[in-house]
Parts: sequence; C-alpha cells; structure tokens
Amino acid sequence: ALKITEECINCDVCEPVCPNQAISLGMEHYVIDPARCTECVGHFDQPQCALLCPVACIPKDPAHPETGEQLLEKYQALIQVK
Ligand code: SF4
Ligand code: SF4
Repeated sequence: ALKITEECINCDVCEPVCPNQAISLGMEHYVIDPARCTECVGHFDQPQCALLCPVACIPKDPAHPETGEQLLEKYQALIQVK
C-alpha cells in the first residue's frame, strides 16, 4: 500500500482517481486505507494518486510492504466483494 504524508495540501486531486476508493479525507489530511490500496495493481500500470499528486507526498507505506503477488490477490478480493 501507499501512504499519504503530512505534506498533503488537501487538494483533492487523488481521491477521485483511486480505482479502489481507498482514499478519504482524514482528521488533518487525506489518508489511504491500506486494506483497499493495491498500488493500482489490476487497474493501472502506475499508482494514479502518486502520479497526479502536485506535492509528491504519496510514498510506499513502510508499515505495509507488499509483493506484486499480494497486491494482485488484494485486487481480486476487492472486485469479488463489489
Ligand atoms: Fe488508490 Fe492506486 Fe493510490 Fe492505492 S495507489 S490509493 S489504489 S490510486
Ligand atoms: Fe494530498 Fe496529494 Fe492527494 Fe492532493 S493529491 S489531496 S496533496 S495526497
């Protein structure tokens, strides 16, 4: 999963582009739900939020390291729930 750092300026660019509805407005800035973030695996070649963020504040979440295989499994689980 990726994470949004406190450098976020709450511009709202990332929230609508997430294919997994993983992004929402938190207490102080936008946040990513690691249970829903597939790093865009299954949808796009690159993480859309990180691609578009104007202040580049969306790195990989060190607390949630995942392999490509794990991200693909999460993607498959998420589309089944829908
Ligand atoms: Fe959503 Fe993709 Fe960003 Fe994860 S990397 S929060 S899935 S847009
Ligand atoms: Fe924050 Fe970047 Fe998302 Fe804008 S695009 S709300 S600055 S994380």
